Amino acid sequence: MAEKSSTMARLDEASDFLGLEPWLKRKFHGFKSVWECDIEAPMDDGSLQSFKACRAWHRSPFPGSPYKGGMRYHPDVTVEKMKDHAVEMSLKSWLMGLEFGGAKGGIAIDPSRHSQEELKRVTEALTEEMLERNLIGPRLDVPAPDVGTNPTTMNWFHNKYAQRARTHNYGPFEAVVTGKPTGIGYGGIPGRVEATGWGLVQVFKKFLKLKNLQKKDFKRIGVMGFGNVGYHVARILAEEDFTIVATSDVHGGVYNKSGIPLEKFQGKKDTREIKDCERITNDELLVLPDIDIFIPAALENVITKENAWQIKAKGIIEGANGPTTCEADLILESRGVFVIPDILANAGGVTVSFFEWARNMGKIDHRVPMGELTSDQVLTALSKVMWRETNNVFEAQKKYKVSMRFAAYLLALENVAPLFRTKHTAISV
Ligand code: NAD
Repeated sequence: MAEKSSTMARLDEASDFLGLEPWLKRKFHGFKSVWECDIEAPMDDGSLQSFKACRAWHRSPFPGSPYKGGMRYHPDVTVEKMKDHAVEMSLKSWLMGLEFGGAKGGIAIDPSRHSQEELKRVTEALTEEMLERNLIGPRLDVPAPDVGTNPTTMNWFHNKYAQRARTHNYGPFEAVVTGKPTGIGYGGIPGRVEATGWGLVQVFKKFLKLKNLQKKDFKRIGVMGFGNVGYHVARILAEEDFTIVATSDVHGGVYNKSGIPLEKFQGKKDTREIKDCERITNDELLVLPDIDIFIPAALENVITKENAWQIKAKGIIEGANGPTTCEADLILESRGVFVIPDILANAGGVTVSFFEWARNMGKIDHRVPMGELTSDQVLTALSKVMWRETNNVFEAQKKYKVSMRFAAYLLALENVAPLFRTKHTAISV
C-alpha cells in the first residue's frame, strides 16, 4: 500500500480527534475526479512537443460552488503531488469559510526553458483539452496562478476559454480563472498579486499580538523562494521594519548578516541580481543560526525529519503549500519551534481569488469589496478575514490544547462535517 502523505495522515488524526464517522473519514481520502492528459503544442522551431498535464478534484460539500486551486508549471508536477495539494486546498477553503472545493493541477514543464510564445500555446492547448472534457468553467473549476504561472498565464487561459465557450454561453467568461491582470477587459482584482504575501504578514503580526510576543524578538527573517509569495513576503516585511537576513530561489540564496536593504531586492526577479550579499545554498538558508523566523515559500516537503533538528529559527511560517512533513512537525514541536500552518498562513491568495471570482460572477457576499477598487481597499478587506481566522485558530488551539496546525485542521473539519452529513445522509436540518 502507498505510504500516506503528511496531509492525509494529519487529516486522519484530526478526524479521529473529533470522532468523525468512519464513512466521512474514508470520504476525505477520495476524489471527485482525477484527470491526466498529454498536452501537445508547437514549439518555436516548428516541432510538436508533448507534456504531461493533470488535475485533481477532492471531495466538496458545496454542490452549487466550483472547485478552486492553482495551476502549476514545474518539471516535478505529478498526479500524486497534485492530489495532495488538492486536499490542502479543500482544508484551506473550509478553514477560511470559502465555499469552494479543493483542486490542483498543472503541467510537467520547466517554464524557464520555453519562450513566452511556447508557453502561451501550451496554456491554450491545456485550456482546450479541459474545456473539451467540460472540466473548467466559472461554476465547475476555477484555476489560479501557482508555481511557474502568473497573471499572464491566467489571461491566456481566460482568452482561450472565452473564445471557445461563448458560443455555448458558459459565462461570465472572466470567472473561469482568478489571478488575472487588472484593467478594462482583463477581469482581475487589484491586490491579488501581493495577496498571499500580505495575508501571511497579517497572520504573523496577529499571532505575535495574540501570544503577547514582542516584534523585536522575531525581527530577523529568512525566506526560501523569491517568486510571487516569497518576494512579496520579503518586501512587505522589509517595509514594516523587519530584517530580511536571507532569501533564495532555485539558483541558491543570498545572505547579509545586517539585513538585505529593501532597495537591493525590490523589483528583482532572481536572487542572482541582488548585490553585496554572500551567496548561500538553500540547505544553508534552512538552518541559518541568526534568523528568528524561517518562511518556506517555494516547494513542498523541504522541512523533514532529517533537517528539523538543525533548524535554529524560533518559528516557521508556511508560505508554500505542504513544506513540512508530519515527522518534522513532531520534532519541531518537541523543540518548541512554532509553526504557523500553510492552510492559514498562505490563505490570502485564495481569499482574494474568492473576491475576484465573486465580483466576476456578480455574487454578493459581505466579505467581498465591490465597486471600483484600489489594492489598498482589497488588502484591507483581506486583512479582516485573515485576522478573524487567526483569532479562531488561536482560540481553538487554547480550547483543544493542540498545535496551531492541528487546531486549524480541527476548525476546517468542524466547519464542513455537518454539510457532508446532510449531503450524504437523510438528516433533517
Ligand atoms: P513562483 O513560481 O512565483 O515562485 C517560486 C519560487 O520558488 C521561485 O523563486 C523559484 O525560483 C523558487 N524555487 C523553485 N524551486 C526551488 C527549490 N528547489 N529551492 C528553492 N527555491 C525554489 O511560485 P509562488 O506562486 O510564489 O508559489 C510558491 C509556493 O507558494 C508554492 O508552494 C505555492 O503552492 C504556494 N502558494 C502560492 C500562492 C499564490 O498566490 N501564488 C498562494 C498560496 C500558496
